[in-house]
Amino acid sequence: MKFCHQCAGSLVLRIPEGDDKPRHCCTECDSIYYLNPKNVVGTLPFYGKKVLLCKRAIQPRMGKWTLPAGFMENGESSLNGAIRETTEEAGASVLVRSDSLYTLFNLPSINQVYMFFRAELANLDFAAGVESDEVALFSEQEIPWQEIAFPVVKSTLEHYFEDLRKQQFPVRMFDVHHEEDRKITTHLISESNPG
Ligand SMILES: [Zn+2]
Repeated sequence: MKFCHQCAGSLVLRIPEGDDKPRHCCTECDSIYYLNPKNVVGTLPFYGKKVLLCKRAIQPRMGKWTLPAGFMENGESSLNGAIRETTEEAGASVLVRSDSLYTLFNLPSINQVYMFFRAELANLDFAAGVESDEVALFSEQEIPWQEIAFPVVKSTLEHYFEDLRKQQFPVRMFDVHHEEDRKITTHLISESNPG
């Protein structure tokens, strides 16, 4: 950010009075701009014992497989955003139950929070949207485990197939850290009691 959205004045990074972090402050008016984490919301669409994955047609991780997910829009709920992304990227209609919230990942290194919801496919009428090259159903054995786009997706899928065997789907929250050597570590922080 370089210019003020209110008056087009120049912005400088300084710690405002009473604050303890540098913020983008306008040198002309009193505007202060706060940068906060973004929410990424998506679903884990399932049908029987299979899960729907999308092959990415866009960067980053073009050609890798992922769950349908994307940035939440202003004015929508996390669940509605996840359902919207599922329609946009996979052309899929889903049914969600009242226990749909499944995994939540904090990624403080890149200022993002991911949320995935379990969602049953309403039918088998799905098709790749503009951001996907291909959309397909996979059993646990069929999943291209080496070709999964993001660690949060891989972690969600691994827990899902484990939970499927137990028929219990607790809500889990993880902290994901991007280390300096580009290694990514995932720590389980919270897990609900299986109902
Ligand atoms: Zn200004």
